[in-house]
Amino acid sequence: MVLSCTDVRKTFGSHVVLDGLTLDVGEHEVVALIGASGSGKSTLLRCVNLLAEIDDGVIRLDGEDITDPRVDPDAVRQKIGLVFQSYNLFPHMSVLDNITLAPVRVHKRPANEARDQAMEWLNRVGLADKSGSYPDKLSGGQQQRVAIVRALVNSPRLLLLDEVTSALDPELVGEVLTMIRDLKGEGMTMVLATHEMGFARQVADRVAFLDKGRVLEQGPPEQVLGDPVEARTRQFLARII
Ligand code: ADP
Ligand code: MG
Repeated sequence: MVLSCTDVRKTFGSHVVLDGLTLDVGEHEVVALIGASGSGKSTLLRCVNLLAEIDDGVIRLDGEDITDPRVDPDAVRQKIGLVFQSYNLFPHMSVLDNITLAPVRVHKRPANEARDQAMEWLNRVGLADKSGSYPDKLSGGQQQRVAIVRALVNSPRLLLLDEVTSALDPELVGEVLTMIRDLKGEGMTMVLATHEMGFARQVADRVAFLDKGRVLEQGPPEQVLGDPVEARTRQFLARII
């Protein structure tokens, strides 16, 4: 398994947000997390990226317990890319500088190597001509694609995408979804929280329905989305479609 979350518990005060959540993700697998707002999707992704500390359970990356307090969080984050709903690009930096900042400053990679790799990715996603531009000169879709490239320059083992199309105008959603589909084609292992059921159906190998901080049901998209076992999954799908 690339990612293995076992009995993960996360509370904020008395509020139990992840309640013994267990989820495994194999190599080259794409898992879509669906579930009502507040069901814990973002918290799970943040815990996997060590932006939030879990209270109990264990999270393994390639078999290594990354929730062990002796683990260096920066080393883990180098192996796990996380992209948020809002692109979070630095407005005062060019596209290229946005992408190379963390590899060079945090991970101490040689600047020219980071730059070459960033340009290679920008080329692949058709944004090479934007490398010197500032984020406000880009469309929302282009900004989000840059944010995804920024998560890819470390050649992560795992890419986490949290509602990456939710903040986009509808006409810009497609280009981001296409990029994610291409990444799947290249074998990238991904966990994506999404409200786009059509996209989950197309791109995910497995859909996991989160309910109250647990995976209530998971399976192939056509099964979970088309013929769910659990009443709560059915209720959720009936509400959003
Ligand atoms: P989802 O992404 O599925 O909508 P979240 O993981 O964002 O769900 O949130 C799950 C629950 O955790 C929500 O009730 C939310 O209010 C709560 N929560 C998330 N982050 C924090 C935080 N930093 N402090 C307190 N409560 C939080
Ligand atoms: Mg969320």
